[in-house]
Amino acid sequence: MNATITLPDFETMYQAIVDRDAAMEGLFVVAVKTTGIFCRPGCKAKTPKRENVEFFATADEASAGGYRPCKRCRPTEPAGSVPAWLTKLIEALEADPSRRWTNADLTTMGLSPIRVRRWFQMHYRMTFHAYLRTRRIGLAVDMLQTGQDVTSVAWDSGYESLSGFRDSLRKWTGQTPTSIKQGEPILVDRLLTPLGPMLAAGSDAGLCLLEFADRKMLPKQFERISKLFAQPILPGTHPVLTLAAEQIQQYFDGTRAEFTLPLRLDGTSFQETVWNNLLEIPYGQTSSYKQLAQQVGKPNASRAIGRTNGDNRLAIVVPCHRVVRSDGHLCGYAGGLWRKKWLLEHERKAKQTQLPL
Ligand SMILES: [Zn+2]
Repeated sequence: MNATITLPDFETMYQAIVDRDAAMEGLFVVAVKTTGIFCRPGCKAKTPKRENVEFFATADEASAGGYRPCKRCRPTEPAGSVPAWLTKLIEALEADPSRRWTNADLTTMGLSPIRVRRWFQMHYRMTFHAYLRTRRIGLAVDMLQTGQDVTSVAWDSGYESLSGFRDSLRKWTGQTPTSIKQGEPILVDRLLTPLGPMLAAGSDAGLCLLEFADRKMLPKQFERISKLFAQPILPGTHPVLTLAAEQIQQYFDGTRAEFTLPLRLDGTSFQETVWNNLLEIPYGQTSSYKQLAQQVGKPNASRAIGRTNGDNRLAIVVPCHRVVRSDGHLCGYAGGLWRKKWLLEHERKAKQTQLPL
């Protein structure tokens, strides 16, 4: 079965188009009854009136409903894919990751530096220049780890001096060329789900982050794990991320109830205890903050449990969405309440109809 996209509630979606929230890309399209046109949530066109909008999960459904795609935001192109206007730049970046780019270079290519900056901000949560720097550092880390000497790595990855390279490396990874040679960077990749894109990060040691890409605190989380594991975080892929993507897909298809992934649950001993207890809550069932507090032997620590729940770095895999209030209310979820509701409903249905549990 293919996971079908589920719509957030009307208010969440309407607010997203008012805010032009590009983080909601891929979750729905908005059609306007008065113009007959449909758009992505982040479209820069004038916000339509509440009574004139109709939401669809996919561009196909909106087309089937008789709407035409907006020429400005091109909602029929897959969300998260590189748009046509940017392909030339991405190809040039891949061909020579060590190249330094100026705004003038972009303008020469017929690109607006502001538009480029916005795209990178939206898709990688960093500026274009920060992305370039990460790419250069990533390249250097790769070369160092395959045993190349520091001087040639510095030149080949586009640095003009050895000291500049060392400084940069220290600033962005907190490490020296020697410690990098022995270390192992954390790689981060995107994966698409019916609830929107997620970012996954991991290394040989295991998966250390899985989060919905629209979470505002992501940059802070990245900083934290980079410090915690004393490793730089770089865009790239890794077998553990491929495995996580496969299992997440199966989870959304309703064919997987438990994950078999190497996990990095590093935290304080209280956090680790709580997170390990979360892992014990069975698929399709819920527990409460109160119950968890009792389980970890701290019956008065419901609040601390709630906070630790929110600090969970591995959404879905460590099922913090299965924790509700003792009176059954859903209460907060860092990824958005509508997602929590969706996940619980999905597990309940899949358990009844599909999973041989
Ligand atoms: Zn549009």
